[in-house]
Amino acid sequence: MYSVTNPATGELIEEIPNSTEEEVQAAIDKVHRGYTSWRRRPVEERAKIVLRAAELFAERSDELAAIMTLEMGKRINEGRGEVGIVVDIFNYYGNNGPALLADEPLKIKGGDAVIRKEPIGALLGVMPWNFPAYQVARFVAPNLVLGNTILLKHASICPRSGVAIEKILHEAGVPEDAYVNIFASSRQVPAILADPRIQGVSLTGSEAAGVSVAAEAGRNLKRCVLELGGSDPLIVLDTDDMDETVKATSTARMRNCGQSCNAPKRMIVLSDIYDEFVDKFTKRVGDYFQPGDPADPKTPFGPLASIAAADEVAGQVEKAVAQGATLRTGGKRIGPGAYLEATVLTDVTPQMNAYYEEIFGPVALIFKADTEEEAIAIANDSPFGLGAAVFGTDPDRNRRVADQIESGMVYMNKSGGSQADLPFGGIKRSGMGRELGAAGIEEFMNKKSIRL
Ligand code: NAP
Repeated sequence: MYSVTNPATGELIEEIPNSTEEEVQAAIDKVHRGYTSWRRRPVEERAKIVLRAAELFAERSDELAAIMTLEMGKRINEGRGEVGIVVDIFNYYGNNGPALLADEPLKIKGGDAVIRKEPIGALLGVMPWNFPAYQVARFVAPNLVLGNTILLKHASICPRSGVAIEKILHEAGVPEDAYVNIFASSRQVPAILADPRIQGVSLTGSEAAGVSVAAEAGRNLKRCVLELGGSDPLIVLDTDDMDETVKATSTARMRNCGQSCNAPKRMIVLSDIYDEFVDKFTKRVGDYFQPGDPADPKTPFGPLASIAAADEVAGQVEKAVAQGATLRTGGKRIGPGAYLEATVLTDVTPQMNAYYEEIFGPVALIFKADTEEEAIAIANDSPFGLGAAVFGTDPDRNRRVADQIESGMVYMNKSGGSQADLPFGGIKRSGMGRELGAAGIEEFMNKKSIRL
């Protein structure tokens, strides 16, 4: 069942039944047939349609943001910001797609060859609720320009986002059989993946969903991109402005109510500045991130996406404290909506569950490291490897530390975020493959070798 429940109040607004087997079959058939004609359209035409979609996303920014606020509690201004990145992504692939897909001439032993960049067919997208438009854009924009067609299963708490995005794409000129939104349940995903008419899958979501989708993709020899969870480290080596450092790092952690895959979830601070950092960080988190109505643009901090999510994160905090962690601020569930106070934990050790698991909510863990080497060791002591950040005043030292972090991305004196022209993705249990940038258009591409 898909449903819309306002996380700010707990009120159930709408329920939508899952697609029936017949509807799923019809949708698969549609995108499979649609592929034949979509791929034959000149790339410039597909790119133009994607550019038109960028314009429509920009025009509908308020509408899309309001849907996000209602469905998953995102603060309205954050929703508008998210749509801004979506516009950038569609513009990036609309403008750069044709050049990225141009033939690549190759001098080879005894002659010449060409690498032709072709699509592979109909793809399945399985998307999460935390960035309902941005996650879809990262997968959809490059693949539509490339010539693949798409069947999209959005998160079951975001049906209206799924429908609004489909409407924009169709209005922009994407044929109805080149992009289809379905209300499939996660239990229907394996059969869709096994269907020979589907050539690949892109999942953004939890580690558990990744394991299941990767297993099905493997069993059926389908290409897959997995953008999964993270517990990103943020190392603070030194600072010449502690207030600014605390503001930047706490804001990065609490953005989207802490529900960003690449938020810095583990702050690792060198011991000479640790006490000052913890005091100021705790104070800012406690003072600034006051829960309020996400529809009000002045609200600094909204609810989590659902009551279940808030309960789960509150449970993780409770367990950490029971296992010996120090609760510096926050930790309390606030009802009737999906609110949890912004929380800071210290003294988390490897014996506690919180040390290794992802906490997908507004909870910052702060660790003390005596040396640079110890900070790197703590950073790498994680099953995840999505992003990382290094804060410090010496660029050479920052880079030296960054080079030793096991992650798909690393940011200097900045944390989290994402931009259209910079590849995004992780290693270890954070997934495989890349989205965005030139790399993002290659994942579901047939790089056909043509020997001349
Ligand atoms: P989720 O529960 O895994 O759901 C994501 C999507 O996968 C939803 O559409 C969900 O459908 C579907 N799904 C769940 N279990 C499945 C299964 N066994 N087989 C097939 N599909 C399945 O994740 P979430 O709670 O929405 O999102 C939070 C997670 O996503 C966090 O771990 C976060 O770090 C990660 N994330 C990663 C990135 C990245 O780029 N690396 C970006 C954003 C989020 P239903 O809604 O119907 O269950």
